[in-house]
Amino acid sequence: MKITAIHEETVSLRSSLRNAYINFSEMTVSIVAIVSDIVRNGRPLIGYGFHSNGRYSPGEIIRHRLIPRLMGANPGELLEDDGSNISPPRAWQVMMTNEKPGGHGERAVAVGTLDMALWDLAAKIEEKPLYRLLADRYRGGEADPDVYVYAAGGYYYPGKGIEGLEDEIRRFLDQGYLDVKIKIGGAPLAADLERIEAVLKLLGSQQSLAVDANGRFDLPTALAYAEALTPYRKQIKWYEEAGDPLDYELNARVAEISPVPIATGENLFSTQDSRNLIRYGGMKPERDYLQMDPALSYGLVEYLRTIDMLKEHGWSPRRCIPHGGHQLTLHIAAGLGLNGNESYPGVFEPFGGFADDIPVESGRVRLPDVPGIGIETKAELMKVFLPLTNQV
Ligand code: MG
Repeated sequence: MKITAIHEETVSLRSSLRNAYINFSEMTVSIVAIVSDIVRNGRPLIGYGFHSNGRYSPGEIIRHRLIPRLMGANPGELLEDDGSNISPPRAWQVMMTNEKPGGHGERAVAVGTLDMALWDLAAKIEEKPLYRLLADRYRGGEADPDVYVYAAGGYYYPGKGIEGLEDEIRRFLDQGYLDVKIKIGGAPLAADLERIEAVLKLLGSQQSLAVDANGRFDLPTALAYAEALTPYRKQIKWYEEAGDPLDYELNARVAEISPVPIATGENLFSTQDSRNLIRYGGMKPERDYLQMDPALSYGLVEYLRTIDMLKEHGWSPRRCIPHGGHQLTLHIAAGLGLNGNESYPGVFEPFGGFADDIPVESGRVRLPDVPGIGIETKAELMKVFLPLTNQV
């Protein structure tokens, strides 16, 4: 087999929401399609990819560095030994030719975007859902039948008061979620505590609330929030990204005094950055959560390295709940045995969310039984992808 074309386009996310750090109204996303010469049902097999929310399109890097390297490679360099399928790890090496270590930034997002499409294509060629391919290759065939998901929201909209927040949380619960997450740090501490108390009143004793500062706090503020959250510790699932993602000392200081579990990692874009978090960030493997998002950080090929690194340091994949709320991480969670996956009901559409016909039930979601990642199971998402290859 061989790749016959790779297309990239930059599209708008058109979102009006805001977390503690940025608003998303100008956010863009790169979408890619990798076309193969394998024909099924009269059409070429195509792998689709996009990157996760929170980072702008790295389209320049994809178009000017990564696609030319993939298209310029000897086809055998991109394939498994028997030539029957694309090899995402080998394609990864080709994409990273002549790239220096470190300085990950937008390059990690660009590689992650193409990596998603490569895995989608590889699973389609094997005629398996991606989670099944991952379970077969990396977990002795064992896959989880469904995946824990929590509803991430609680953004700060202009004019959205406590009542607006309560309405949003009720909608999440009506949609089948048990656990929810809200932003903190976009309002003064006292106002955030009112928001937290309002949400906790809506939750049952088996449900929990996570809070996310989006890396906003300096050390004194991060510690003040850790202390303020302590009385609510039985129902607070975690305290997320208190300070700058690369300030491991701050993280360690917060982790030391917080009785509430710590969660972080969505802005670490390489195995090496994650290793530094594990080495120096004070994270506790029996308590805390890791949220690295492969669709922002060199893709699933790099995420497999991160899982290996975590195991070497005594961490179970069950401590991982990736950021992003997209289908790639849902497959990884089921196939590799992670703890769960983020979900953003109603936002970051159509990229976020799971198969159209599979509801969230009791805080868990099943995977579509179609080859690949299942982008074809999201009608609105396919409307974005089809023009890329002139199919509409
Ligand atoms: Mg977050």
